[in-house]
Amino acid sequence: MEKVATAQSIWQKLQQKQPVIISGPCSAETEFQVLETAIRLAKTGRVDAFRAGVWKPRTKPGMFEGVGTEALQWLKKAREITGLPLIVEVATARHVEECLKEGIDMVWIGARTTVNPFSVQELADALQGTTIPVFIKNPLNPDLELWQGSIERLKKANIAHVGVIHRGFSNYGNTEYRNAPMWHIPIELKRRMPELPMLCDPSHICGRRDLLFEVAQKAINLDYDGLMIETHIDPDNAWSDAKQQITPERLAELLQQIEWRQETT
Ligand code: PEP
Ligand code: MN
Repeated sequence: MEKVATAQSIWQKLQQKQPVIISGPCSAETEFQVLETAIRLAKTGRVDAFRAGVWKPRTKPGMFEGVGTEALQWLKKAREITGLPLIVEVATARHVEECLKEGIDMVWIGARTTVNPFSVQELADALQGTTIPVFIKNPLNPDLELWQGSIERLKKANIAHVGVIHRGFSNYGNTEYRNAPMWHIPIELKRRMPELPMLCDPSHICGRRDLLFEVAQKAINLDYDGLMIETHIDPDNAWSDAKQQITPERLAELLQQIEWRQETT
């Protein structure tokens, strides 16, 4: 349907300072939901890669913890139909193994994993020398050194393409944002490691739809290299993160409204 992109072409885009857009559901729920979301995202012509959580790190037991390995086949079907490269969250060496075995194009490390150096090291070892891009979200807590340390662990494992994703920092109680952006932390990381591609994840920062645009615009104004935004064909009935997901068509509108940097318009 679309021209076929690859992880390599996405990386090139990042290096050329063209914004990269990653989108898809918080969780892969059913084959239909995965395919339909991917097809509608591809139709917008604005998305570079398709995300979906397969193994979900939930706060409490008994919540939906992801479909697991089976969902990787749905994602591969989505890629076959749309040409969109895939990105999946990995939290254990087994997740990495399965993603590499199935030819998933890129992986990301989630905020709950970045806080634990043992886990990050396990992932770095499992990913040792990989050529696929590996993105690492900030840790839940506002600890820049821990974030930087986990990037260093990946680089020491000879992972050539490491990028970061800013998804905000945990709060206690009800606050405007689900996860406070604390923009000064990613800005300082970028100052220390200017070569590092940095994406913003407005979905997990906001936790609600109505703030997504302003956070996405702010990230672009701050010269971020792209956005990861969650989309769902029926956001209100999503099995995880229902309040923050938007439809693929709403995403297209939001991206249309953003004032992009001069050189990319
Ligand atoms: C997600 O991307 O769905 C996710 C679980 O993100 P985070 O690690 O930022 O909470
Ligand atoms: Mn989510």
